[in-house]
Order: sequence, then structure tokens, then C-alpha cells
Amino acid sequence: MAESLQQQLVDSTCKENDENMECAVCLQRCIHPAQLPCGHIFCFLCVKGFANQNKKCAMCRQEIPKDFIDQPNLLEFSIPLENSEGVENDFQWFYEGRNGWWQYDERASEEIEEAFKLGIPSFELIICGELYVIDFKHKFQYPKRNSSRKRSIKRDKINNVVVKGVAGLR
Ligand SMILES: [Zn+2]
Ligand SMILES: [Zn+2]
Repeated sequence: MAESLQQQLVDSTCKENDENMECAVCLQRCIHPAQLPCGHIFCFLCVKGFANQNKKCAMCRQEIPKDFIDQPNLLEFSIPLENSEGVENDFQWFYEGRNGWWQYDERASEEIEEAFKLGIPSFELIICGELYVIDFKHKFQYPKRNSSRKRSIKRDKINNVVVKGVAGLR
């Protein structure tokens, strides 16, 4: 009896966490949440950011397996992009990768769209822990500290673009 009550409590706590799951790195709702072997959950892009730096969990310092970024343990409860309402008619933002167009993650795409609608020529955005310049005028992005690494960007409807994936996820 006591045990099942405890189980219930655990279940409801987990559910609550799923809905408001906050990433301890960017302090926003997790986008493409990924769970590390230690159990901590972050946005996939945030994991990618700190995994590249010191290969350790940002919360508990447990080592991140080498293949985690290639085979992340992604949790399924984030709303997939294609299921969100009216997204087919919304403009999305894409950047050019090695072999095609990639879609920015939802949050980046929204921020870029907002800035674009303001009509400003360029703005700065943190992607994967690095500051990028999004240049609307010339239609490319580059890391602020290395303007030679330019990539083309474009704004289009999702149905018009053959996308390789979202933010490095296939
Ligand atoms: Zn995050
Ligand atoms: Zn951890």
C-alpha cells in the first residue's frame, strides 16, 4: 500500500517534470531533450556544446561517452516539429551544411524569424554555446570569432526544402 502510493508520487513528479523540463544549461524548456548515462537531461544542442568542451556532464561531471553525440539518447516527449500546428505554412530557417540544407532548431528558428521581421540587417544568436552572427543582408551565418566559416542561410516553407535534419540531428 505504502509502496504503491510512493510509486504514484514518483509517477506524477515525473510527469510534471516532462512538461516543464528545464535545461540547466540554457535555463529554458529542453529542445530535443537528451539524457546522459548519469540521468541528467539537457537540450541535445546544450549537451553538444559542453561535450565538445570538456566531455563531462554539466551537472555532475560524469564523463560523457565518446559516441553520445553521434548516438544520443533522445527523449521522445518533445513535440515533433511536423506535428506543431500550421507549421507547413510557416516560414522556417535553414542553414547549409556539408551535404544539404539543415533546419535550425525551433527556438533558433523562431528567434531568427522575429529578428528578420524587425527588418534589421543582422543579429547575434548563441548556437551550441557559440555566438553566431546571422546576416540577413548577405544571407549567411558565421561564428562571431571566425567570420571565415560562413554558411548560407535561407528562409523557406518546410515543404519546399529537402532537409537533412534539424540542428545536427538526423
Ligand atoms: Zn538547453
Ligand atoms: Zn550528470
